[in-house]
Amino acid sequence: MKPRDRLRIAVQKSGRLGDPSQDLLARCGLKFRQSRDKLFCFGESLAIDLLLVRDDDIPGLIADGVCDLGIVGRNVLAEQQAAVAARGETPAVDELRPLGFGRCRLSIAVPQELDYAGPSSLAGLRVATTYPALTAAWFAANGVDAKVVLLKGSVEIAPKLGTADAICDLVSTGSTLVANQLREAAAILDSEAVLAGAGVAPNDERGELLELLLRRIDGVIQVRE
Ligand code: ATP
Ligand code: ZN
Repeated sequence: MKPRDRLRIAVQKSGRLGDPSQDLLARCGLKFRQSRDKLFCFGESLAIDLLLVRDDDIPGLIADGVCDLGIVGRNVLAEQQAAVAARGETPAVDELRPLGFGRCRLSIAVPQELDYAGPSSLAGLRVATTYPALTAAWFAANGVDAKVVLLKGSVEIAPKLGTADAICDLVSTGSTLVANQLREAAAILDSEAVLAGAGVAPNDERGELLELLLRRIDGVIQVRE
């Protein structure tokens, strides 16, 4: 990859992490001018630019070197890392800092009437999820043979539709589960927004910008705590 003198961060364009991500960067003293199509923010105070994207694309953009950093839920990053590991490869994107917002957990949830006494209660059942690699890894770690069914959306209605017996989905308050007659059986990942970056820091001007940004993020997070 050719040396670049500007650092590029991928952040969620809209959704739950969009505004808090931009707020955090503003508190780090970063100021931006947004492009007309609202996909790019040019850094005016430092040589740090933003690319506004769907959260699911963030780990791939970092792995491909299109962006140096990203702000993304640990759930999305860990799913990509688990998928890479399942192919026998080494994940190229790391969690650099937890950021303290966007907290939720990835949990197994079961219909109220299912008797859950531990992972083995799910043996032979179908579990619907948007996180197939993390779910499969959790079953493998617990020595349970269950069928992971990939669903891109509305995972919580799968048991009612009969397309799955249980689900593995993000939970924050639990109200969505209750509304669908489900109950949380086991949390498999505690999540929050994280700063993600390539395993190896860029060896040019961007490396110094990264150090500066990490120091400022640490300062902002310390003040918050
Ligand atoms: P995009 O359009 O960018 O693909 P999305 O619909 O996949 O957006 P959001 O619903 O905005 O994503 O969620 C983004 C992140 O917010 C999640 O990946 C997760 O880390 C975090 N989050 C926090 N609480 C919740 C929750 N209750 N449900 C879903 N995500 C949550
Ligand atoms: Zn998404």
